[in-house]
Amino acid sequence: MQIKTIGVIGAGTMGNGIAQAFAVAGHDVILTDIAQAPLDRGMKNVDGSLERLVKKDKMTADAKAATLARITATTSLDALAAADLVVEAATENLGLKLDLFARLDALARPDAILASNTSSISITKLAAATKRPGQVIGMHFFNPVPVMQLVEVIRGLQTTDATYEAIEVLAKAIGKAPVQVRNSPGFVVNRLLCPMINEAVFAFSEGLATAQEIDDAMRMGCNHPIGPLALCDLIGLDVQLAVMQVLFEGFKDPKYRPAPLLVEMVEAGYLGRKTGRGFHRYA
Ligand code: NAD
Repeated sequence: MQIKTIGVIGAGTMGNGIAQAFAVAGHDVILTDIAQAPLDRGMKNVDGSLERLVKKDKMTADAKAATLARITATTSLDALAAADLVVEAATENLGLKLDLFARLDALARPDAILASNTSSISITKLAAATKRPGQVIGMHFFNPVPVMQLVEVIRGLQTTDATYEAIEVLAKAIGKAPVQVRNSPGFVVNRLLCPMINEAVFAFSEGLATAQEIDDAMRMGCNHPIGPLALCDLIGLDVQLAVMQVLFEGFKDPKYRPAPLLVEMVEAGYLGRKTGRGFHRYA
């Protein structure tokens, strides 16, 4: 199947990056969100990100303008009826995503593939909310999307080989490195990464070291490019919490219980970079 027009749901941290990655590669993108404000913020982010490429001579001003022109930002979900593929990157919430997949199934073209960028929710469950379960798949990008190479391509129990192959080809065509993963809570990367971040939150809350010291220790001791608490701020504390809850629920194993401080910080609205405050402060 030829995938030309791509719908992206959610213009947040991931959605605007996904829209940019597809538009840079020459795809027409329809970017949707529930309100104009997140769309404006998302498009501003894409503009800023492309402008940095122009300044570094990695993109011409004309190519930047053409890339931006390929993205249509709209609050209308119905606009996704024109898409060959829809990548859902809305807030990590099961009820919200189940509802979105049922609505998408009703409005998308019968041959369209429906993908989710979920960090942890079951693709099998999302597929079951549609009448096209074989055409539902996980396309899990990493943050920041324009920079990170990996895409976990997650096969639900119902995903067909044709759907998988179309997404694998597409991921490679936009310069990403797809890795095939069977549906399971947290998939591969978050199954390993999020418990490590969770343990860093426990260490911080127990006063083992400051947030900066914990981050420095893991950067210099394990050669990680960024410390676990700074990474949590980048991911979003709400997203990290949602992943831990899915792991905890999915495996019923106490080793995945979310750190109480993480829960409390999310309750306080300290969600990391996107709110200016997490384990570190941001201007
Ligand atoms: P975010 O909070 O930055 O953005 C979510 C966006 O979805 C918001 O703009 C919100 O207005 C919009 N939204 C909510 N309900 C909607 C609806 N019904 N229709 C359209 N838009 C809606 O979140 P994010 O970090 O971009 O995460 C989005 C998805 O990507 C989640 O499933 C998350 O698990 C996943 N993900 C996140 C990361 C990360 O590092 N943040 C990495 C990989 C995957």
